[in-house]
Amino acid sequence: MTVEQIPVTTLAGGHRLELTVHTLRGASDGPRMVMFGGIHGDEPMGSETVRRLLDAIDPAQLSGTVVAVPVANPYAHQALTRNTPLDGVNLNRIFPGDRGGSVTEQLAAVLSGILEGADYFIDFHSGGNFATVEYAYLHDAGAEMSRAYGTSVLYRGHPYGGSATGWALEKGVRCMVSELGGGGQRIGHYLKRGVDGTLNVLRAIGMLPGDPVAPPEDQVIVDTLTTLRPAVGGTVVSDFGAARLGERVPKGTVLAKVVSPYTSEELEVITAPYEPSILVLGREHLTNVAPGDYGFMVADGATAKPADPG
Ligand SMILES: [Zn+2]
Repeated sequence: MTVEQIPVTTLAGGHRLELTVHTLRGASDGPRMVMFGGIHGDEPMGSETVRRLLDAIDPAQLSGTVVAVPVANPYAHQALTRNTPLDGVNLNRIFPGDRGGSVTEQLAAVLSGILEGADYFIDFHSGGNFATVEYAYLHDAGAEMSRAYGTSVLYRGHPYGGSATGWALEKGVRCMVSELGGGGQRIGHYLKRGVDGTLNVLRAIGMLPGDPVAPPEDQVIVDTLTTLRPAVGGTVVSDFGAARLGERVPKGTVLAKVVSPYTSEELEVITAPYEPSILVLGREHLTNVAPGDYGFMVADGATAKPADPG
């Protein structure tokens, strides 16, 4: 394995911003798999998943090359913020970036260069500081990865414009986005899920030997995944945290209340919109929230289809 620092730019404070890239060359030839963690700085779960994978993948067994950037946005990682604090930009909305642009645009440009020519790409995300999530995106190019990753919910959604995945798909790269863990909850559980799931992906695409484990029987594909965003800030009180992800709840179920810690008023009630709603992102009993934050995410259970039609 080689570890190298790729220069991005020099900041006004004189610090040189670099991206650390790990390259794991397998004993035999094969595809090139790129992995990113930490595109969003409030999602350190992805960085740690990549770190553990680099340790878990045996180069003697590997066919092809794994190129991994565990921390794709170092200053956001430092600040534990979704966007880059230096320019306020969301790195996952400006691919392929600009070598002559702001710090985040330049990060995207360097990362695009790493993605160029890849056969496969996995982007490891999670909930932010206060939310826990559990699903994977399903794209036609890369669907075999999402199935093998093994989450119960697969979301057939269009990637966001300017996302690393959206750009990579345009370039013909087979892609999967993992959305696993976050919020400081069930850390060991989700790290293991991410590592085991990725090793299973590598078996499914022939980069590691052995038969992949079959996906769970309850794996479903959903086309509708709705983010419930509180319109007001305050304290969110909820019974729908990490332990309840994957649960189906009736339409109208109260998922949370936003209350004012100042006046004690109940400001907003967040309810499940679908009959039934599959809980995909949740928050613990007591969390702070800003207007427009990711409150909850739910999938429409009525239109969910078995991933394996049998
Ligand atoms: Zn993210």
